[in-house]
Amino acid sequence: MQYIYTFEEGNKDMRRLLGGKGANLAQMTNLDLPVPSGFTISTEACNAFYKNHNQLNNETLAQIKKALDQLSQNVGKSFNSLSQPLLVSVRSGAAISMPGMMDTILNIGLNDQTVVALAKITANERFAYDSYRRLLAMYGNVVEGISEATFDTVIEDMKHQNHYQSDLDLTTNDLKQIVSEFKKVYINKLHREFPQNPTEQLLAAINSVFESWNNHRAKVYRRENNIPSDLGTAVNVQMMVFGNAGKDSGTGVAFTRDPATGEKHLFGEYLLNAQGEDVVAGIRTPQPISTLEDAMPHLYAQFEAIAAKLEFYYRDMQDLEFTIENGKLYMLQARDGKRTPTAAVKIAVDMVYEDLISKQEALMRIKPESVQAILYPEFDEKDLANHDFVASGLPASPGAATGQIYFTAETAKAAHDEKQQTVILVRQDTSPEDIEGMVVSEGIVTSRGGMTSHAAVVARGMGTPAIVGVNELQVDYQKRSATISGHQLHEGDWLSVNGTQGHIYIGQIKTADTVVNENLSTLLGWAKQESHLGVYANADTPADFSQALRFGADGIGLTRTEHMFFKPERLLEMRRLIIAENAEARQLPLKRLLKMQQGDFYELYKLSAGRSVTIRLLDPPLHEFLPHDEKEIRKVAKQLDVTPTYLKQRVDSLKELNPMLGHRGDRLAVTFPDIYQMQVDAIIGAALQLLDENVIIEPHIMIPLTALKSEMSWVKDLVVNRIEQLLANKNVCLEYTVGTMMEMPRACLTADKIAEVSDFFSFGTNDLTQLTFGYSRDDVGSFMPEYIKQGILPADPFQTVDVDGVGQLMRMAVEKGRSIKPQLPIGVCGEIGGDPKSIEFFEQIDVSYVSCSPFRVPLARLAAAQASLRNNRVVSQTVSVKSVN
Ligand code: ADP
Ligand code: MG
Ligand code: MG
Repeated sequence: MQYIYTFEEGNKDMRRLLGGKGANLAQMTNLDLPVPSGFTISTEACNAFYKNHNQLNNETLAQIKKALDQLSQNVGKSFNSLSQPLLVSVRSGAAISMPGMMDTILNIGLNDQTVVALAKITANERFAYDSYRRLLAMYGNVVEGISEATFDTVIEDMKHQNHYQSDLDLTTNDLKQIVSEFKKVYINKLHREFPQNPTEQLLAAINSVFESWNNHRAKVYRRENNIPSDLGTAVNVQMMVFGNAGKDSGTGVAFTRDPATGEKHLFGEYLLNAQGEDVVAGIRTPQPISTLEDAMPHLYAQFEAIAAKLEFYYRDMQDLEFTIENGKLYMLQARDGKRTPTAAVKIAVDMVYEDLISKQEALMRIKPESVQAILYPEFDEKDLANHDFVASGLPASPGAATGQIYFTAETAKAAHDEKQQTVILVRQDTSPEDIEGMVVSEGIVTSRGGMTSHAAVVARGMGTPAIVGVNELQVDYQKRSATISGHQLHEGDWLSVNGTQGHIYIGQIKTADTVVNENLSTLLGWAKQESHLGVYANADTPADFSQALRFGADGIGLTRTEHMFFKPERLLEMRRLIIAENAEARQLPLKRLLKMQQGDFYELYKLSAGRSVTIRLLDPPLHEFLPHDEKEIRKVAKQLDVTPTYLKQRVDSLKELNPMLGHRGDRLAVTFPDIYQMQVDAIIGAALQLLDENVIIEPHIMIPLTALKSEMSWVKDLVVNRIEQLLANKNVCLEYTVGTMMEMPRACLTADKIAEVSDFFSFGTNDLTQLTFGYSRDDVGSFMPEYIKQGILPADPFQTVDVDGVGQLMRMAVEKGRSIKPQLPIGVCGEIGGDPKSIEFFEQIDVSYVSCSPFRVPLARLAAAQASLRNNRVVSQTVSVKSVN
C-alpha cells in the first residue's frame, strides 16, 4: 500500500487522498512553480492509523523514513546536520477544510545543537532562537497538550519586567532565556525533556495531526456539516524556508483578485523579515502587496505571473501563501479564495469573458442566496461593530434598516411625510389597514406572527426588511412606548433591524445601499437563456411592477386586485359596497371602483410592454375591509354617512368564525356576481382602451380558491359571458384566457376535470400548504419552531415545498391537467415560488413558470437556470478552455 506521495507524484484531483493542501502543493510542484520540497502522508494512512489503535503502522513508518531520506537527498540537508540542518513543517490538510483540527507545526528539526548551527549559517542568532522558541511552544501545545497560555505567560512576564511594548523588543538574550524557560515547562508539567531527536519530533507531530481528526471539536463540526468521518486527514511534511532570514526575506498572503469587489488585481499583504503566522497574528502591521512591486520588482513580476498561471489552471480566483527567502520566492499554499457575493458575481462574469469558464459554469458557481445578498442593503460594517443586538425574531424579510420608531400607521406616515424622518414601524401585528404606514417604513417589527403573517408577506412583497414574532417585544399603544428585552423605548427613538438574520439593535446603525450592477444583470441574462422555467413577479402596484421589470421579470404571474382597494379613497368605496344590503345599493360604489380599477389595469398593461399579466379576481373575505374597533367604526360610519350602530351590525353580520375557510374567493363570485363582473369590466375596458391605441393586450384572468369543476365552470361562464358581451358591444375581437388557482387539495385531486374548463393553472402554495397540513398559516408561530427544532418537520413547509405531501399533490395536478391539455400553462405563485430548493422541485415536475415577489426575481432566475442545468434540460454549449501552456 502506498501511504506516501511526494509532491511530484500528486495533482489537484487527488484531494480525497492527499487533502486539499497536499493536492495543491503537488499541483503547484507539477506546474514547475517554486514549492519547497516535501511529501504528503495520505488520508489512507490516517485511516490505517485508527485501525492500528491510534499508532502509525510499520509500513507507514518505513515509508516515512524512505521519503525523509529522499527529501534530504533532494535538498542537500538532513536532520541533525550541523552544516546543513534540515527543518520541516508538519501541516495538516483534509479534503474539506475543517476548523478545530491541529494545523501546523513549524521548525521541526531544531534542538540545542541545530539551533546553534542555524544561527551561524544565517548569521542571525536572534532568528534561530526565535524559531526555536516557536517550535517549543507549538509542539508543547499541539503534541503535549500544554496550554498556549502557559507559554504566553513566560513571554508576557519577560516583556513586563523589561517594559517592552511588543515581541519585537525581545533581544537575542531574552529569546535564549525564553527557550530555557520553555524547556522548564516541559520538565515541570511532563517530567521529561523536550525531545531533542528530530525524527521523534516529526513522528509525534504526525501522530498528533492524525489524532486531531477525531478530537471533540472536529467531530462536532463534521456532524453539523454532514462530513463523513472516514474521510481522514492528510499530513504534509515540507522543508522549511525562512521568511525571517533577513531584510530580503518575508512572508505573505495574496488573492489573485480583490475578494471584496472582484477587481482583477493582486490583493494581499506581506511582512519583511517574518515567519508564518506573523502576517495574520497582528504583531506587526503588514504592508499591502502593491508595495512589494517597489521593494522587489523582479520578484513581484514573478509572483504576478505565478498568480495568473494558477488562476488559469484552477479556473478560479486563488488565495495564495508565499514566503521569500533571501530574495527567492516560494509558494506555500493555493486554494480557491473566499469572496463576497458581489465579488463572486463579478469574477464569474469576468472569467467567462476571459474565456476561462463557460457561461454554464459561471451560473453554477453563484449561490442564489448570494444574489439576494447583493440586492439588499446591509449595515455598514464599521458602524455595526459598535453595536450588539438586543433581541431577535423571525427573519421575515431580508435587508438592513435603521429609523425612528412609530407604533401606528398614521404616526409613521405623519413622521415620514411631514418630518421627513426614516421610520421603523413597530407593532404587535399588522393588518391591511396599516398598509400606508408600512409603505413609508424602512423596516417593520412585530411581536407576533409567523413567516407568512400579514406583516411578513407584505414586507417581502415591498422588499422592506422585517422581523416578526419577536417574543421579547411588548408594545404599549396607549403609552406610545415599547419594551425590548427590558429596554424601554419611546416613539421617535432610533432602532435598527437586520431582517436577513432577524436581529434587532437599539440605536442608529448606518446602512450601505446596493443596487443591481452590470455584472449581475449579465449573469441574469445568461440565466434566462439557460432556464426552462419562466420567472414572473407577484406585483400589485405599478411601483412593484416597475421594480420587477428592473429585476428582469418575464411578466406578472399574479396581481392581487384586493391590494388595490386599500388606498383610502378606494377603501371607502369598498366599504360602501360591502355594507350595501342589495344589488341596487352596490351600483354606485361599483361604478366608482370600476373607474379606479380600470385605471390601475390600464397602467399595468401599459407598463407591461408586451409581457404577460395575470390578474386574479377578488380573493379575501369581505370583512377584512371593514373596521374592527369602536373608534374605527365611529370614524368610518361618519365617512359613509351611516350610524355607528348600523355599521357595527353590518360588520357583525359579516364576521366569520373561520374566515380563511369562509366566504371568500370564487365563493364571493357565486353570491355577489356583480363584484367579479365589475372587475372583468375593468380588465377588458383597460385592454380595449389600449387596443384603441393599437396596443394588443391578452388578458389572463385568474379565479381563486376553486375546488370543483362545476364551480369553476359556473364562474368561468360568468366571466366569459361578460367578456363576450363587452366585445360584442364594441364589435371587436380580443384573445383572453380564464384560468384557476390550484390551492385546494380537492382541485389537485380532480385536476383533470378542472382542466377541462381552465385555460391555465397557477398553484397557490400558501393556501395549498395550509389546507394540506391543516395548519393555519397565521398561527403556525406557536408550534412550528418546536416542530423544526425537534426534527418533526425538516423545514417550514410555507417556505420550502413539502415534496412528499404538498409536492405530490402538485405533481398529480400537473400530470392530470396535462393529460387533458398537453400544453396547459402551469405556474406557481406565492412565496415558495422564490425559494431555490422548491424551484428545483418545480422544474422536475414540469411547471412552466414561478411567480414571486419582485425582490426575489433575480434569485429565482438563477435558481431556475441551475435547476434546468442540473436536470439537463438545456443543451449546453460549453465555451472551450484554452489549454495550459
Ligand atoms: P493553515 O492551514 O492554518 O493556513 P499552513 O499549513 O498553511 O496552516 O501554515 C501556516 C503558515 O505557516 C503558512 O502560511 C506559512 O507561512 C507557514 N509555513 C508552513 N509551512 C512552511 C514551510 N515549509 N516553510 C515556511 N513557512 C511555512
Ligand atoms: Mg495556510
Ligand atoms: Mg390563496
